[in-house]
Amino acid sequence: MDIVSTVKTALEIAERTKNLDLKKAILDLQEEVQNQRGANLTLRDENATLREELAKERAAKSEEGKVVACDGAYFRLDPASGKPDGPFCLGCFDSRKKLHRMTSRRFKPKDGVTGDYLCCGVCNYFTPAWGERFKNVDWPPKE
Ligand SMILES: [Zn+2]
Repeated sequence: MDIVSTVKTALEIAERTKNLDLKKAILDLQEEVQNQRGANLTLRDENATLREELAKERAAKSEEGKVVACDGAYFRLDPASGKPDGPFCLGCFDSRKKLHRMTSRRFKPKDGVTGDYLCCGVCNYFTPAWGERFKNVDWPPKE
């Protein structure tokens, strides 16, 4: 028998015996049980949220071990090809552990810089993209 049923049974007995002091004490107990159940549900929700956040943190940490920085960008292992995949934004990964793919963009003098750059569409980080600079990404990452 759970506590709610036990309290209900005790309340019925108090009503049958017409013991008003006992009935009042049981009603107080019933209210306290309901308050505790509400607090328990709140803690369960908070626990579920914290478990979810922990799982995300662990996944991000796990991802962190799989990336390698190379000359202004990050790369990760593409499981399908077994080759480095990228480049990903250095700033986004360092600050928020998010892998955002960088795209090529040609800047013109009106932009303040000229030439080909790799740009992050999220944080606007950019790095020069000339030459063959990403052809020699070390993989697997070295310690
Ligand atoms: Zn970024």
